[in-house]
Amino acid sequence: MPQYLFNPPPVAALPIRGEATLFPVNRLFFVGRNYHAHAVEMGKPVDKSVERPFYFTKSIGTLTPSGATVPYPSETANYHFEMELVVAIGRAGFRVAAADAHELIYGYATGLDMTRRDLQLVARDKGRPWDLGKDIEQGSVCSEIVPMPFTVIERGAIELAVNGQTKQQSDVDKLIWDIREIVEDLSRFYHLQAGDLIYTGTPEGVGPVVSGDRLEGRVEGVGSVSLTIAPAA
Ligand code: MN
Repeated sequence: MPQYLFNPPPVAALPIRGEATLFPVNRLFFVGRNYHAHAVEMGKPVDKSVERPFYFTKSIGTLTPSGATVPYPSETANYHFEMELVVAIGRAGFRVAAADAHELIYGYATGLDMTRRDLQLVARDKGRPWDLGKDIEQGSVCSEIVPMPFTVIERGAIELAVNGQTKQQSDVDKLIWDIREIVEDLSRFYHLQAGDLIYTGTPEGVGPVVSGDRLEGRVEGVGSVSLTIAPAA
């Protein structure tokens, strides 16, 4: 064993439904503006005929398991939820054709792409990076991984409630770029690896949280994800 100056961070991992082993997480990718009604509510409608998908990443240290209670983060007054279907990659691939995308898929999860909306929009409109708006400590919430090897999800209700009141309600069949297209496109930029998670984008209805809120989201056929917001630390 090598000796390190200080203890390195533990391996990030998520439980796998029905398995004793854990799913070690490698990288966190996020698709931006992938439901038309959400793109419109952000004031940036998408024309798929002339655009490609775009992505941002979050550092692995932001990964937080479903069910956590996390403090309201610093330096924001508009902390938002974004409910998302998450693809769990189980096999490496580079420049993968859409028709072969299923070969990389281990399973799925449900996730929350928590966002400092105020900072994200300032960054967007000034042409700056989105990191402070998106790469938030404890801001990448993810459920257990549900094994669905080689399966491409094409439809299913996706919804999120805050304190029992529904805020987001859509269907995965409304993805602008579907899962095959995302794997094809993202794998042109990155050598996808086992352990990569791809958050596929959020539907309309995003909104702010306050301390004390309990978020509960679900994707039909996959499962649920929850998060509780505590006072600012
Ligand atoms: Mn998102």
